[in-house]
Amino acid sequence: MRLRVEHDIFVVRQRGREVAAAIGLEHQDQVRLATALSEVARELLRLCGGADVTFTAALQTQGPVSLRVDLAPVRPLPDGRYEPQSGAVARLVDMLSAVDRDGDTVVTMSRRVPANAQALTPERLAELRAELGRTAPGSALDELALQNQQLIAALDEVREQRDELAVLNEELQETNRGVMALYNQLSEELEETNRGVVALYAELDEKSAQLRTASESKSRFLANVSHELRAPVTAIIGLSRLLADSASDPLTAEQARQVGLIRDSATDLLALVNELLDLAKAESGRLEPNWVEVDLRAVFGQLRGTLRALTTKPGVELVVEEPPPPATVRSDEVLLAQVLRNLLHNGLKFTERGEVRMRAELRDGRWWLSVSDTGVGVPPELRERIFEEFYQVPGSTRVGGTGLGLPYARRVVHLLGGTLELASEPGRGSTFTVTLPAGGA
Ligand code: ADP
Repeated sequence: MRLRVEHDIFVVRQRGREVAAAIGLEHQDQVRLATALSEVARELLRLCGGADVTFTAALQTQGPVSLRVDLAPVRPLPDGRYEPQSGAVARLVDMLSAVDRDGDTVVTMSRRVPANAQALTPERLAELRAELGRTAPGSALDELALQNQQLIAALDEVREQRDELAVLNEELQETNRGVMALYNQLSEELEETNRGVVALYAELDEKSAQLRTASESKSRFLANVSHELRAPVTAIIGLSRLLADSASDPLTAEQARQVGLIRDSATDLLALVNELLDLAKAESGRLEPNWVEVDLRAVFGQLRGTLRALTTKPGVELVVEEPPPPATVRSDEVLLAQVLRNLLHNGLKFTERGEVRMRAELRDGRWWLSVSDTGVGVPPELRERIFEEFYQVPGSTRVGGTGLGLPYARRVVHLLGGTLELASEPGRGSTFTVTLPAGGA
C-alpha cells in the first residue's frame, strides 16, 4: 500500500484491521494493531512525506505465527532514526522498532497470532488478497465513525474491568480481615502457651532444686547413721566371738547356737552398713578416685584367686580370661576391683549351672570389661530397675543381698569416666559390661 496523503492514514488503518482480522488476531488486538499503525503512519507522513506499507504473515505449518507490518519511508528519515512519539504506541504491539533494510531505515511492527487461529493455506491467502483488493476503502468519516464505535466498546470493556476489579478488591479486603483475625487469634494462643511453658519450667526448676536437696539430705543421713551403726555392730561381733571362744566359760549347745546366730546377723548387718556408707560416699561426691596406671592382668589375677574359693556350686565354673596387651588402663585400682568383684559375686550368686566368665577387650580406645553368666537372667522391664537402690528382682531375695551393689557399682563406674550396662536373656544368662576410656576419665 502507498501512504502519500492524509486520507491514506485512514486507509492504512482500515486495511491493517482487516488484514489482522483475516489472519486471526482477536478483536482487541486488531484494534491495537490498527491504532499503532495509524499513529506510525501519521508520524512518517509528517516526517518524510509518506511510506510504502507491506503486510507480511509469518507462517508455519500449523498456522500463522505473527503478522508483521513494514513501513518503508519514501525519503530517508531525518537523522536516519525513528523513535515512536509515545511509549504507549509501542505497547500496543509486541514489537515496534526501526531496522536497517538494504541501507534504508524501515519501521516495522509485529503482533503474535493466537495459537487457535485458523491455518492459512495458499488458497486462503490468495482469497485474502482478492478480498482486500475488492473492498474499496471507506471515507475518512466512515473510518471516524468506526473508530468511535471501537472507542465506545473499549470504554465499556474498561468499565466492566473496573467493576470486576472493585469486586475483587472487596473480596481481597474481606480475606485480609479474615487472615488478620486468624493471625491475632493464633498469636494470642501462642502467647498463652508460652506463658504456660514458662510457668511449667519454673515449677520444674523448683522441683529439681527440691529433689537435689532431698537427695543430699538422704545421703547425709545415710552416711551419719551408717557411721554411727558401725561401731556398735562391730562390738556385737567381737563380743559374740568372745562368748564362743574356747577360753571363755563353756556354753550349752543351745547357747552356742544362739550366739552363732547373733554373730551371723551382726556380720550381715555390718556388710549392709558398709555398703550404705560406700554408696552415701559415692553419692555425696566425696569419693575421690586415686588415678594410677592399673595393670588389668594383676586385677584379674587377684579376683580369680579370691573368688575361686567362693565357687562352691559343683555345676558352675568361674573363668577369668587373660586381658590382651597392653592390659593397662588409667583408673582407680581399688574401686575398679570392687566393681568387678561385685559383678562376679552376683554372677556366681544367680547361676546354678554353667559358667561365670570375665574377659577384657580393647576396642575404639575403650576397655570393654564384661562379666557374663549362664544364670537366671533379668526380665527386660527390670533391666534398669536393678540399678535402683534396694531393688531386687522378686524371688531373688532368697539368695541374700541388699540391692545396693549395682547402684553403687554404676556410680563408681561413672566416676571413673565409664558406663555399666546389662544385656540379658531371661533363663539363659546375663552380661554386665563396664566400658572405660583406656586413657582415664
Ligand atoms: P544384691 O545382689 O545385693 O541383691 P545388686 O544391686 O547387686 O544387689 O543386685 C540387684 C538385683 O539385681 C539382685 O537382687 C538380682 O535380682 C539382680 N541381679 C544382679 N545380678 C544379677 C545376675 N548376674 N543375674 C541375675 N540377676 C541379677
